[in-house]
Amino acid sequence: MARILLAEDEPRISSFVTRGLEAHEFTVSATADGQEALNWGLFGEFDLMVLDIGLVGIDGFEVLRRLRGGGSDLPVIVLTARDSVADTVAGLEGGADDYMAKPFSLDELLARIRLRLRQRATVPEGGSATVLVVGDVSLDIRARTANRGEVTVELSSREFSLLEMLLSHAGQVLSREQILSGVWGYDYDPGSNVVEVYVRNLRRKLGDDLIETVRGMGYRLRV
Ligand code: CA
Repeated sequence: MARILLAEDEPRISSFVTRGLEAHEFTVSATADGQEALNWGLFGEFDLMVLDIGLVGIDGFEVLRRLRGGGSDLPVIVLTARDSVADTVAGLEGGADDYMAKPFSLDELLARIRLRLRQRATVPEGGSATVLVVGDVSLDIRARTANRGEVTVELSSREFSLLEMLLSHAGQVLSREQILSGVWGYDYDPGSNVVEVYVRNLRRKLGDDLIETVRGMGYRLRV
């Protein structure tokens, strides 16, 4: 059973997330206090932290900075207000593994948590927990860059999430709908061609042969 550390000072959100995660077989320890979240993150036995920015005491930026400064690679999903996502991402300097804009659905949070935990579980023995590798493609979760062989490319945050999802399911076909809900969450318009556009971007950056279109079904990362 995965152990989740929740740092959130709004009682309503804290109890919503706690009850929701506990109903899905996670154990949750919640705190409203930034310093306590940091201590638990550094020294507690947790599998993942859900971190709000506005906390009692030190804020989420500082928690994450000190957590990474202390050498922790605990996966962190940051909660942020919808209108300050860009500022938040910049302020975190890449120390977070993922971001969720408030308000979010429990399903989306569960999907993100499971994705992070699965990636962590598939990191090879002795490998770094922040790099996901399939064949000659590697994705650095911290730096948010991808490598194909010797070539490093910069990815936008959605490109990054899309590649991450494809790598995590390498060899499997992912439908357009799965990709939309996994990468775009509740933000997506089901009629948009955004998946096609982003797949094209990834092919341009990483090579045409990496992502296969499976006609009528979706996309697959070749292994
Ligand atoms: Ca807060």
